[in-house]
Formats: sequence, C-alpha cells, structure tokens
Amino acid sequence: MFTGSSREISIGNLCLGGNQPVRVQSMTNTSTMDTQATVNQVIRLVNAGCEMVRITASNIREAENLKNIKAALIQKGINVPLIADIHFQPGAAEVAAQIVHKVRINPGNYTGSYHHNKSYTEDEYKRELEATAKKLLPLIKICKTHHTAIRIGINHGSLSDRILFRYGNTAEGMVQSAMEFIEICRRAGFHDLVLSLKSSHVPTMIKANRLIVARMFYAGYDYPLHLGVTEAGNGEEARIKAAAGIGSLLAAGIGDTVRVSLTEAPENEIPVARRLIEFYGRGKKTGPQVKVDFYSMRKNKSIGFPLVITSPKAKNADADSTLLNIEKEDDTLNNKDKIIRLSYSGIPYEELLLRASADFTRYTLHEKPAGIWIENNNHTSAEDLAALSLKILQALGLRYTKTEFIACPSCGRTQFDIEKVLEEVKSKLDDLKGLKIAVMGCIVNGPGEMTGADFGLVGSGAGKVNLYKRKQIIQKNVDIATAGDELLKLIRTIDLTNQ
Ligand code: SF4
Repeated sequence: MFTGSSREISIGNLCLGGNQPVRVQSMTNTSTMDTQATVNQVIRLVNAGCEMVRITASNIREAENLKNIKAALIQKGINVPLIADIHFQPGAAEVAAQIVHKVRINPGNYTGSYHHNKSYTEDEYKRELEATAKKLLPLIKICKTHHTAIRIGINHGSLSDRILFRYGNTAEGMVQSAMEFIEICRRAGFHDLVLSLKSSHVPTMIKANRLIVARMFYAGYDYPLHLGVTEAGNGEEARIKAAAGIGSLLAAGIGDTVRVSLTEAPENEIPVARRLIEFYGRGKKTGPQVKVDFYSMRKNKSIGFPLVITSPKAKNADADSTLLNIEKEDDTLNNKDKIIRLSYSGIPYEELLLRASADFTRYTLHEKPAGIWIENNNHTSAEDLAALSLKILQALGLRYTKTEFIACPSCGRTQFDIEKVLEEVKSKLDDLKGLKIAVMGCIVNGPGEMTGADFGLVGSGAGKVNLYKRKQIIQKNVDIATAGDELLKLIRTIDLTNQ
C-alpha cells in the first residue's frame, strides 16, 4: 500500500490532500450560459454531498458567465468551490482563473497540435515543450495572483501529438504528459496543483495512476491526485468500472479526490463516490470485510478465459463444468493460476457490486486470474452473482460477453439528451458481443476520447450527431431521432474484421 502523503492545498474554502478526507466532486451538464439552470444543478449537487463542482467553459463568454453563476450561488449562501473545465482555449482558462477556485486544463489539447500523426525530432520535441510553457505561463501568473489551483487533467484519449509520437497512447505517455506540465509549473514556482490521469479503460487508468505515484515519489513530488474513470456510461456497468478503478486505487492509499462519471443526473454520482471513499478511502477498509480465498486451476490450464463460479459445488454459471478439479491453495500462486473467491456476509446488492468490483481488481492487478467466485452468504441469487461476475470481468478487459458501451457524462457542451440516446442505443445493440460502441456529447472532445471504440455516435450540433466507424466519420449531422437506427444500419453493413 502507498503510504506517502500528498501535500495539502486549498480550493476555495476546502482543503484537499494531506490528511484531509478524500473529497467528492462532480460536474454540471447544463449550458454554462444558462445561469439559473446551472445554479440549480450546483445546489442539487451540494445537497447530495458534493464538495466541489466543475463547470465547462468552452469559450471566453462562458468563462465570463462563471462570475454570474458564482454570484448567484453566494447570494443563496452556497460557497462550494467551483472549477472551470477548459479544453483548447487558454484564453478561457485565463478569464475563469480570475473567478473560480480551480481551473482544469487538458495538456493534450491546451496547446496547438492535435492528432496529426506528426513525427518529432529531439529538437522539435523540445521546442514544442518550450512553446507550451510559454502559453501556460500567463495562466500560472493569474492563478498565483488569485490563489486559484490548477488541475492538470490528462485523458488517455486526448494526448498531444508530441506525446503520442514518443510514447504512444499509453499509460506511460499519460504520465510523461503530466510530468512535463508539472515541471513547467514548478519552474514558475507554482505548486497548487492537482493531477488526474483518466481513461475509459480501467486497467490503463489504474496503471497510469500507480505510475505517476512512483514517478512523483522518485522525483520528490507530492501533488494530490484526482481519480476517475472516464466515459464509464451508466447503470451497473458504469458503477462497476468506477469501483474497479477508483476503489482499488483508494484501497491502495492512492487518491485525494474522486469523481464517479455517470451518464445520468450528476447527483447520482455522489452516493457512489461516497460509498467508495467510505469503504476504501486512504487505504482504510471499513465495514464488513471480505474473506478472500485462492483456488488452483493447475489441472485446467487449457481454459482460455477467466471462469465464473457460483456455487461451492463448483458448478459454473456459464455451463463450463471443468471446475471439478479446483483445489484450495494458498496465495503464493501467480494470478493466472488462481481462482479468486470473495465471500461477503450478506450485504445489499448495490454494496456488493461496488465491493466485489474493487476487491477483485485489487487481487488481479498484475496477472490474468483463472476465475472469479463471488459469494454473499445466500443473499444474492446464483444468476445475479454470475451476471455480476461477467460484468466485472468485462470491465477489466478479461473476458467479453456483451457489447461494451462507453459514454461521456455530458457537460455544457452537450446539445442532445444523451441519457435517453444511450439507453436507446443500448437497447438496440446490447447483444453485439465484442463490439465497443461510444456515445459522446460533443465533437470537441468526443472523437478523441472514444479511444478504442468500433463505432461512435458523437454530438455535432443542436439535436444532431455524427456517426463514426473507428476514427472515421461515416455520416454527418444525423437527426438525433433516427441516430440509433442509423447506427444499427451502419454496424450491420460494415465488416470490421479486415479493417
Ligand atoms: S465529450 Fe462529453 S463530457 Fe467531454 S466535453 Fe464533450 S460533451 Fe462534455
């Protein structure tokens, strides 16, 4: 377990990092120009237990309107720290930094070039980094004057060309991107930093966060970490991804603030975040503990995927009965030989879902396990345990049994009802095992951040979406009312096998 402590910094009237509790945050999805709707949503979030609220500022006008939102909140006695979310627009960041308490910037798109597959000589790499520093310095200066913190928010799907060229779209690239921005801030004597390294791919998100902790440790740095799994979608699958990524890192003592991204009402994120912090925050495990046992699969090495086990008699939920050979073992086996059995004392299903996802992930960090076996003291049916087990395996990329959906949580840039569209797309495409389908709110970030998706539906304007096959646009400005059917048609006509 990571036992080092991060530095404490202030975000408005809230302290973050150090020995402070792990903080909960979320983001509005109203239009930032709609002051009243945004204020109302911030209030709902605060009432639900949210401690910091992020609001998108996609241009200078929206950044300026943060002043009205802040003033209206203060008038109502709400002093919650506000964070501006900035992509591509250094000017908007500089305006917002004079109003709100923290500014989130994305190093992958804060400066110039983006996904042009350029190559870089050593000299060009250095020069681009120097140009980046030059663009960032005015913001740092404003933040110093106004005591505004900066979140360096790295997203797996939107790394800069420079990073992609040298490191690829990897956890290592994410970490390098963060380190480069940290160095720029440090050279300017600025330390009110928070870092985030997010991905919709849970193992990548976990790896990036563990790596940044190691890199900071060796460099002697101690900046607080914000944890999140991006584009997790909605419902159980999203909660499982969040618990696997955020819960397992919190259990390892990593993380100072969290956001559980859901394509649902933002208020729904808060109880999930609170439960994860309660169960695992700062590495302390509270509540009824899980009993963990390991079983050997040595006699069944031909099995090519992690098995799902649901009964003590070793009957397999998906009718593969080769489990008769399992043996109780100690924990010295490699994970690839292990069936991991998690026994809970009969906890509610909503709790089981979070606990099993985080606990299983903790024991599978380094190798592919041979199987998952969840028990809940006869409080959960075998069918539900089997379904949950398969969803956890899929969230971790260990075994695919259904279509995988990724969807952004939406924000002020979204111009269609993303929750409704996601539900519609899910109901039409749920049985396309092995496919990854993205539903994204805007063309500014959507295409970049739907990393790895086979098909995507991305907001392109009011009530319109573009349809994608991998990174290529196939249809532009499709009416949202027919988008689900058009996407289904597209999927049926395109064979991805040789592409
Ligand atoms: S992809 Fe979604 S959450 Fe991200 S900026 Fe666009 S609408 Fe907002």
